[in-house]
Amino acid sequence: MFYLFIFIFGTIIGSFLNVVVIRTHDGGRIIKSRSQCPHCQHVLGTIDLIPLISFISQSGQCRYCRQPIAWQYPLVELVTGFLFVLVTYNIIGWLDWENLFYNSAVFLIWLRNLIFVGFLIIIFIYDLKWYLILDKITWPAMVIALILNLIIGFSWLDLLLGAVVGFGFFALQYIVSNGRWIGGGDLRLGALAGLMLGLKAVIVALFFAYIIGALISVFLLIWGRKELKSQIPFGTFLALGIFLALLWSQEVINWYLSIL
Ligand SMILES: [Zn+2]
Repeated sequence: MFYLFIFIFGTIIGSFLNVVVIRTHDGGRIIKSRSQCPHCQHVLGTIDLIPLISFISQSGQCRYCRQPIAWQYPLVELVTGFLFVLVTYNIIGWLDWENLFYNSAVFLIWLRNLIFVGFLIIIFIYDLKWYLILDKITWPAMVIALILNLIIGFSWLDLLLGAVVGFGFFALQYIVSNGRWIGGGDLRLGALAGLMLGLKAVIVALFFAYIIGALISVFLLIWGRKELKSQIPFGTFLALGIFLALLWSQEVINWYLSIL
């Protein structure tokens, strides 16, 4: 029941993330104006905006013009709901009912992880769809990540080193490839990864991002969907890598040390 509540909360946030992604791309204002159907411009009512339920009950069509609703909407809602449950499940084992002060710290980390997931989902979709990492997303995310992590108790130095490593890793490839492999957005996303994770975990995130990126690239090459020179949405892989490191970096570090 508790997890169902978290899931529903996640789908509502997912619905909001869809709006952020679409409106930042179309140049509209994120808040204030009501949502419209992109086909018939009909202003959507509350009943059309219930996450997942609206899509299912209307069998994927606009209630007013019968045009299909993009799969992105229910998919992002579903995935956000699922990730919120995962983040909660991941952290709930840390709770200690004898120590309320400690629990408030756990609560802060949980909240931080949910906020980070929101940013990562936006970066993930945006780079996948349009091969772009927006500065108006990464800059605020960097400030928020820095503030939240300092409150939680990260040291300045750890976050700074993480950002330098994340940024430097991409800056090196940027210089080597003369800006052909990656863009400036990747550099700033690298810095954001460091500010979100700190030094140790950012290395884990980069490791994950490269493994995932390599696997998917090979798969797409075999599948014949991409050629070697095709653009790779690296921000999408790194967003995924950051998420995995956020939840499981310590496990990965322990595993790595155990096989040495
Ligand atoms: Zn419509």
